[in-house]
Amino acid sequence: MEKIKMQNPIVEMDGDEMTRILWAMIKDQLLNPFVELNTEYYDLGLVNRDATDDKVTWDAGYAIKKYHVGVKCATITPNAQRMTEYNLKKMYKSPNGTIRGILDGTVFRTPIVTPGVKTYIPGWTAPITVARHSYGDIYKDTEFRIDEPGKAELVFTGVDGRVQRETIYEFECPGVLQGAYNKDTSIESFARSCFEYALSEKKDLWFSTKDTIMKKYDGDFKETFQHLYDTEYKERFEAAGLEYFYTLIDDAVARVIRSHGGMIWALKNYDGDVMSDMISTAFGSLAMMTSVLVSADGNYEFEAAHGTVTRHYYKHLKGEKTSTNPVATIFAWSGALKKRGELDGNKELEQFGQYLEEATMQTITDGVVTGDLAALMDPKPQAVTSEEFIGGIRERLAKKLGC
Ligand code: NAP
Ligand code: MG
Repeated sequence: MEKIKMQNPIVEMDGDEMTRILWAMIKDQLLNPFVELNTEYYDLGLVNRDATDDKVTWDAGYAIKKYHVGVKCATITPNAQRMTEYNLKKMYKSPNGTIRGILDGTVFRTPIVTPGVKTYIPGWTAPITVARHSYGDIYKDTEFRIDEPGKAELVFTGVDGRVQRETIYEFECPGVLQGAYNKDTSIESFARSCFEYALSEKKDLWFSTKDTIMKKYDGDFKETFQHLYDTEYKERFEAAGLEYFYTLIDDAVARVIRSHGGMIWALKNYDGDVMSDMISTAFGSLAMMTSVLVSADGNYEFEAAHGTVTRHYYKHLKGEKTSTNPVATIFAWSGALKKRGELDGNKELEQFGQYLEEATMQTITDGVVTGDLAALMDPKPQAVTSEEFIGGIRERLAKKLGC
């Protein structure tokens, strides 16, 4: 078979520990034999981030803005222990945070659903994607403890000196107090990313807040979504046969549980934090959760939702074979290749991404699985190593490609 060609590059961001080992295996076994990979490579491994004073992360972020598609391996976010372990010059910020800041996007997390792998909610037969707004609210709050009686007020001073003031509470005893905010620009960019992603994935979009209680705050979110939908997206949604649906968060929870899944569920920052953990746990394994950062101006960065699987890496360093699940990392690659194909009108590349996903699913349904998945199956198959699992995918992929 002649290798599939790519017109434009994908921004490739290598990472750390066990996922870096899997990254190399995936390229070697599943990509390079079939595709003439065209990537612009950035080594975001902690050693190179330290060597470049983290410049490499910024360069990679700007490269995604240029080429519109990136794929990222999991990376270490340094803490005190990593400072010593890697003898770092500085405690660098999370690369994901840096890239999110450059692209100003929304993160969409979707579980990979495979027949044979039990979900905790049997009715969920299609994946539920959680879109979490990643800016502001309580994550940027100001809070204090109040130790004596007194009046708490909310005060805003405009640039023209005008003051808006409202009593929050007259404390008769000690208590706690909190102030939070968000910005129209960020809310609108969140809404736009959600509408664009729903159209790109051909999925219904649900959005929920608590606007019955936070009439102005959450009301602003609700109105921003509705206004954008009515003025810019309604026709495109209707033409695609898709629905935009707003409901109160309590009602949304009940409807999501009773549903078959398949929708994108957009949530404010805190709601998304909590609900995405609930959704991923209910669908099975952290290793089966994909993640894509989508910016309102059409840039896509694909990755696995899990970390660098440190515990497995230390075993690997001791020469042991591990049974680390590469599926979410494979799907980060297939997602990026499919998106590259779609943007470039490269049908062959899109088809390859699709085949790679099908071959991976087929391997799992055939009972060739890593340890984390074996534990979720009944009867429980014997777990294979990461290498054997990837080998199984390669066989099935080659068959699909007719070679
Ligand atoms: P983690 O790497 O996600 O692993 C936590 C545990 O989940 C593992 O020990 C393993 O459980 C299980 N697991 C996760 N992915 C798996 C896979 N692919 N196959 C099989 N089991 C898997 O989280 P962490 O240990 O908290 O973090 C490790 C490092 O990753 C940290 O340095 C953190 O900064 C970084 N991190 C990076 C990202 C990112 O780049 N997006 C995200 C999160 C964390 P068992 O040990 O029980 O097998
Ligand atoms: Mg959380």
